[in-house]
Amino acid sequence: MATAASPHSLMLKTPSTAAAAGSRTAFPVTTRLPATAPKPISIKCAAATTQVQDPRPPAPAAAQERIFNFAAGPAVLPEKVLLKAQSELYVWRESGMSVMEMSHRGKDFTSIIQKAESDLRALLEIPPEYAVLFLQGGATTQFAAVPLNLCHPDDSVDYIVTGSWGDKAFKEAQKYCKAKVVWSGKAEKYTKIPSFDDVQQDPDAKFLHICANETIHGVEFKDYPVPKNKGGILVADMSSNFCSKPVDVSKFGVIYAGAQKNVGPSGVTIVIIRKDLIGNAQGITPVMLDYKIQAENASLYNTPPCYGIYMCGLVFEDLLEQGGLKEVEKKNKKKAELLYRAFDESKGFYRCPVEPSVRSLMNVPFTLEKSELEAEFIKEAAKEKMVQLKGHRSVGGMRASIYNAMPLAGVEKLVAFMRDFQARHA
Ligand code: PMP
Repeated sequence: MATAASPHSLMLKTPSTAAAAGSRTAFPVTTRLPATAPKPISIKCAAATTQVQDPRPPAPAAAQERIFNFAAGPAVLPEKVLLKAQSELYVWRESGMSVMEMSHRGKDFTSIIQKAESDLRALLEIPPEYAVLFLQGGATTQFAAVPLNLCHPDDSVDYIVTGSWGDKAFKEAQKYCKAKVVWSGKAEKYTKIPSFDDVQQDPDAKFLHICANETIHGVEFKDYPVPKNKGGILVADMSSNFCSKPVDVSKFGVIYAGAQKNVGPSGVTIVIIRKDLIGNAQGITPVMLDYKIQAENASLYNTPPCYGIYMCGLVFEDLLEQGGLKEVEKKNKKKAELLYRAFDESKGFYRCPVEPSVRSLMNVPFTLEKSELEAEFIKEAAKEKMVQLKGHRSVGGMRASIYNAMPLAGVEKLVAFMRDFQARHA
């Protein structure tokens, strides 16, 4: 049936005009909407439609004030990045559409993913003999993908377990090979990193696995063990300290990280792998977990998390603009020192269980001497617009995650609040 051109035309309004009209479809408007906000456009509909009044009351305008979010992940993102994404959300550059609507095989998205990769390579100085993959399934999927790709069922592999995430990685690996814990900090409640000489590595192991930063326990490797296996392969889960400081990638066989702490929204998992380790996956390896297939297809074997990759790209750009990871590390050290000093100066009112030399720059767990005050601390902090300070359910207490995007002002505010809380409750 031929469709006659309709007299009805649908006005797609800019966010601000839609909000002013009290439209239900309006999304929150920021006062910082860029000057280049798109103009209203008018589309002629081909089919005649009846206009239906939306019976729902208009949505209240959302407050635009941002609070300090100390969550462990998903976590705070740089404001500059959020505003840039906002300015490009509706129409990306000359494409006439949002990044969310683009073909993942088109030239626009190709340029986005390629720029994200080259900026990440510049940030971490990734050598050319390493592949960079943008995958899905979170770091948890890598707990399986690593052994599936790097060893066969009869192969042994070594795990240093310094916290819950390393333990989960080890348990998953047991399904696919002969995984062994060569050191565990469990008896000391995961507050330490071993002296590397104390770790009895198996020379026949296919790799040595570490979790570079334990997000729940706040324990961070400050340098890395030399793998004593024949291949010399060290594998690291860097989910919660990825891009927080420079790393010598050439020391690792594989580095993997979920994006949602330091470099983007959840949904993107980054894998950096030495190319000669690709291509030996076990036969049962699902196609999505096979590094060879992902590398051969430039992470586009299936539809990737396009918008998340775009966001990661904006974060990488921002980190480069800040002067790269050396500068970022300086800022992170300053924030962490401020917070740890506050514990040490509190005369035991606040306590951090982690051994001082391996305290994380990213995730800072702490408790109160008077543990009965912890709920009050979290409640009062939230009133002061500092949220997500509750410790992980498995360990309790408090935890402040102070990733790259947490401004110094957030940590200063927390420290001032801690001093005031102590003065009132000591
Ligand atoms: N490893 C570490 C160190 C983590 O912090 C997390 C998540 N908090 C994971 C692995 C699991 O990541 P995902 O939720 O992306 O699977």
